[in-house]
Amino acid sequence: MAGGAAVIVGAGIGGVSAALALALSGWQVRVFEQSAAAEEVGAGLQLGPNAVKVLDTWGLGAALRAVSSAPRGVEMRDDRTFRLIATVPLGPTIAARYGAPYLQIHRADLLRLLLNAAMGAGVAFTYGQHVADWAARPKADLVLAADGIRSALRAPVSGASDPRFSGQVAWRATVPAAAVPGLDPAATLLALGPRRHLVAYTLRDGALWNIVAVREDAPPAGEGWRAPGDARALRHAFADAAAPVRALLAGVDTCILWGLYDHRPLPRWRRDNVALIGDAAHPMLPFMAQGAAMAIEDAAVLAGALTRHPQPAAALAAYETRRRPRTTRLQRVARGNARIYHAANPLLARGLHGAIAARAALPGGLLGRFDWLYGWTPEMGERLTSAALP
Ligand SMILES: Cc1cc2nc3c(=O)[nH]c(=O)nc-3n(C[C@H](O)[C@H](O)[C@H](O)COP(=O)(O)OP(=O)(O)OC[C@H]3O[C@@H](n4cnc5c(N)ncnc54)[C@H](O)[C@@H]3O)c2cc1C
Repeated sequence: MAGGAAVIVGAGIGGVSAALALALSGWQVRVFEQSAAAEEVGAGLQLGPNAVKVLDTWGLGAALRAVSSAPRGVEMRDDRTFRLIATVPLGPTIAARYGAPYLQIHRADLLRLLLNAAMGAGVAFTYGQHVADWAARPKADLVLAADGIRSALRAPVSGASDPRFSGQVAWRATVPAAAVPGLDPAATLLALGPRRHLVAYTLRDGALWNIVAVREDAPPAGEGWRAPGDARALRHAFADAAAPVRALLAGVDTCILWGLYDHRPLPRWRRDNVALIGDAAHPMLPFMAQGAAMAIEDAAVLAGALTRHPQPAAALAAYETRRRPRTTRLQRVARGNARIYHAANPLLARGLHGAIAARAALPGGLLGRFDWLYGWTPEMGERLTSAALP
């Protein structure tokens, strides 16, 4: 169906991506967002080439590259000795292998880019509107719930979900980028330690360091899944880390603390003309840095399915059929990464780090493990969508 009326609940990266993709296919789109204004967590986002290829097809390639940077590689290090375990080459290597770069971007910059494009394509946004019940929604041919990991609209579509605390918390912070001795601002740091890891990379032409620090701990009390963090507790958690890590954390003034919750794959993503998209459909732990990328892919596949199928319900079936195996696989791989990153037994850690280094030395290196992920293209998503259907 090309060109009906769609309502989308949630103006995060998933909702705005879907709004843009539908508007580019001729749909009239209205988006309802509970926040008073467009806002994103003040933090960075890694965007795999699979997501960048989608943004390119929407005509955002040049603007995206102007507000992002392409790291040289990911340096995996032991966080106490700072010994280099392995490097995952990104930069020109990943761009040549998969047809698009791996980028780092401030979340607010990506959201602004998507919002401007969506408004330019005629999407109408209403802020300050909490939608609690999809049965009371405005009339539309299609309704998308893009209301995030704590989706209220998920249960009527999919039944009750079962978030379980993963045993991990994540601090997120950005700090003004003073030179940190021992840290290369052109590379992404992935520092592995016992029951913890830390990712750091620069944003906005090197003006900021973005930090995600994860540690096994009890869930944050009080304010649910996201709460103001305590910079001293963050520093304490990494007090025995190597000097560059401690120097980086010394600059943290304010931070956010997330309890990380894990979900089983949902039994269904759609009911009649209503579907889930983004984190509402496939919440995942952040250890593959792919949650937002999956929301962007969802939007492209959904818009393609709607173009090919006269009835929205058939298009939503095609969308779910195509997307579910890929996002389920990512949920599983992300879960497994925590076990590898956080090995606490020194012998096990040494063995795992050795295995990573050995794999990095093989032809294709560590990137070879991710062909299924980064090699995805929007055309592939659409072609397989139609092939998967009667
Ligand atoms: C620590 C951490 C690091 C991450 N790093 C990366 C990364 O590097 N790369 C990557 O690709 N992904 C990353 N992710 C995942 C990524 O942040 C999410 O997958 C992505 O933001 C999901 O987008 P979304 O639009 O589905 O949900 P959200 O961004 O949560 O947006 C949902 C929107 O819906 C609104 N809303 C909710 N309920 C209602 C309602 N009832 N009515 C109206 N509006 C409502 C909310 O206000 C919000 O604006 C990370 C996640 C975490 C926790």
